[in-house]
Amino acid sequence: MTPEVLISTDRREDDRYHQPKCRWCDHIHRANKQLVTIAEAEEKGYKACDECRPGG
Ligand SMILES: [Zn+2]
Repeated sequence: MTPEVLISTDRREDDRYHQPKCRWCDHIHRANKQLVTIAEAEEKGYKACDECRPGG
């Protein structure tokens, strides 16, 4: 199964991708939350969150 991460569709709000349980996800507006695979997030130019370290 491909691991899914959470991003904000508004990059000005957050340009990192997170594990869905990460506390920073609470700062993302509900309407902007999107679940994608790590590959998709990287493709869109998002960087891994230093705190929850998605994907290890
Ligand atoms: Zn995070």
